[in-house]
Amino acid sequence: MLLHLPTSVTEAQECMAHGAVPVGGATLIWAAWQRDGFPEQAMSLRNLPEANAIGPGSLGAAVVLNRIDDRVPEVLRRAAAGVGTGAVRRTATVGGNLVGSTLRCLLPAALVLDARAVTLETDRTYETDLAEAVAKQHLLLGLRWREPLASAYHKAAGDAGGPPPLVVATAVHAEDGGRRLRVAVRDGYEVLSDSTPLDTDAEQALHALERTEFGSLDPAARDVIRRQVTALAGRVSDS
Ligand SMILES: Cc1cc2nc3c(=O)[nH]c(=O)nc-3n(C[C@H](O)[C@H](O)[C@H](O)COP(=O)(O)OP(=O)(O)OC[C@H]3O[C@@H](n4cnc5c(N)ncnc54)[C@H](O)[C@@H]3O)c2cc1C
Repeated sequence: MLLHLPTSVTEAQECMAHGAVPVGGATLIWAAWQRDGFPEQAMSLRNLPEANAIGPGSLGAAVVLNRIDDRVPEVLRRAAAGVGTGAVRRTATVGGNLVGSTLRCLLPAALVLDARAVTLETDRTYETDLAEAVAKQHLLLGLRWREPLASAYHKAAGDAGGPPPLVVATAVHAEDGGRRLRVAVRDGYEVLSDSTPLDTDAEQALHALERTEFGSLDPAARDVIRRQVTALAGRVSDS
């Protein structure tokens, strides 16, 4: 297997055109290659500046999870800090987590930031809807978002090898002279997300959320949402 380490977008596009498979930290793909056979060519974005940006408002796909610090919003930082073990976080990348893993702890956090995916094709780079980029497994260069006023993240305790633990991510954004609350929940392997205006008190927003898919979550999950939204609304009204 030939591993390419492009240092420019043009070089990365050439590698793509030659069929190089993207690789992040190889924490997942290595086992698949050992089982199914190695590709002729692979490409890591670790030497590509566009894939290594960290904040404000951007995060590169080649950034290793344990490098994600307070240059990004709390919700994303805490999501990264809660992935797997220290050994996994020292190696796994943003791109591998969002596009290549089934757990995708970063996805709810990125959704509440209303993040856009910056993706690479052989003839262009372009910004697109994150959920679509993930679903279609586009080659991810990074994420871009508008800074929120405040954000929060909760991941329930879980057993190794057990069902994916509940994740609740929230963020409040300034919008049209008011505020918008975005909420995303990982329930099993499914990720739900929605948003609602946030006025002075959280109750109205919570009622609006109850009328969305969140209303059919189990009571324990809805309780976590309620507590997180109430605390977050308190933080933004104090600021
Ligand atoms: C012990 C263990 C515990 C874990 N616990 C968690 C957890 O709690 N939460 C969680 O979310 N995840 C968890 N994971 C998954 C972990 O986050 C993944 O291993 C990791 O995200 C894969 O990242 P990687 O950079 O190593 O990807 P790789 O293994 O290199 O690649 C995985 C896939 O992603 C593709 N890929 C890589 N980069 C890109 C890119 N830029 N664009 C498009 N496709 C790309 C590859 O082609 C491949 O198909 C755990 C993994 C392990 C081994």
